[in-house]
Amino acid sequence: MARIVISEFMDERAVALLRPRHEVLYDPGLVDDALRLQAEAAACDALVVRNRTQVRGDLVRALARCRVVGRLGVGLDNIDVAACEAQGMQVIPATGANALSVAEYVVASAMLLLRGAFASSSDVAQGRWPRNALSQGRETAGKTLGIIGFGSIGQTTARLARGLGMDVIAYDALLGAGDAVFGQAGVRCATLDEVIGQSDVVTLHVPLVEATRGLFGAARIASMKRGAVLINTSRGHIVDLAALAAALRSGQLGGGAIDVFDAEPLPPSPGLEDCPNLVLTPHISGVSAESNERVSFMIAERVLQALAA
Ligand code: NAD
Repeated sequence: MARIVISEFMDERAVALLRPRHEVLYDPGLVDDALRLQAEAAACDALVVRNRTQVRGDLVRALARCRVVGRLGVGLDNIDVAACEAQGMQVIPATGANALSVAEYVVASAMLLLRGAFASSSDVAQGRWPRNALSQGRETAGKTLGIIGFGSIGQTTARLARGLGMDVIAYDALLGAGDAVFGQAGVRCATLDEVIGQSDVVTLHVPLVEATRGLFGAARIASMKRGAVLINTSRGHIVDLAALAAALRSGQLGGGAIDVFDAEPLPPSPGLEDCPNLVLTPHISGVSAESNERVSFMIAERVLQALAA
């Protein structure tokens, strides 16, 4: 019987799948107690985390007998994968399991942002009625969606957007025009500059790596179409939020949806308050009841397989 430590929230039914076979410590608060986490790490054969547990440095060294790290989600920027693998651990993400939740968040945000819906909420609540000012909202059909990063989430977003009648163009650093994945999805493969300059909505679906850190600074935001919408569900450190806020206030951009931040929770940020047509959400695009179930069961099953090998 192995010992499995789960340091962040997981679907309880998936935890129950692990329990009869192994000794399980399920403590979603463990991530906030560094000393106890370190001690538990030293005695586990499998560690299951979400995105908050930083599996690097001393924590990796503490995982002396651990064989597998399960990641309840996809981005691996909170895990030093090379260090884990060097110590003989397998790192297993829940590839694809939350793609639909993120894609739905993107198209829902795009539709409401193109209509200017989030520019009016506080006005309406305060008794104002900016109906004339917002009468030039745009329909989604026929608009161009630009996807940066055409992996699991990018492709799922393209499928939903095509269903709404959008034209979809996409850039991916590792895929080229010759890759069948674009044609099969009804998507035109484009350069990064083309995607940024030609899209009514730009959505980011890249991992946080050196090449994507700071990808969307003031210069790239300035080269987007006037009135375009920017959506970031990938990771913080990729979009410069001060530059985004300035572009929204000046009217250069028409809307923004940001689900991920340089620091989470986001510290109080007066510059983002009352920013026109800006939606801020607390890293929830990939988390829904359904995706949490899919992600949790995928990781439970893969951790069981890894421990049985
Ligand atoms: P994926 O690995 O399937 O796809 C990522 C794609 O980005 C790949 O096709 C890759 O070739 C491409 N890419 C890598 N570097 C690039 C670069 N420099 N420029 C352009 N393209 C590049 O991953 P995914 O499942 O689609 O997830 C994408 C990211 O979304 C994750 O890494 C994670 O950070 C983030 N995410 C966030 C949430 C959330 O709740 N907000 C949920 C899931 C995933």
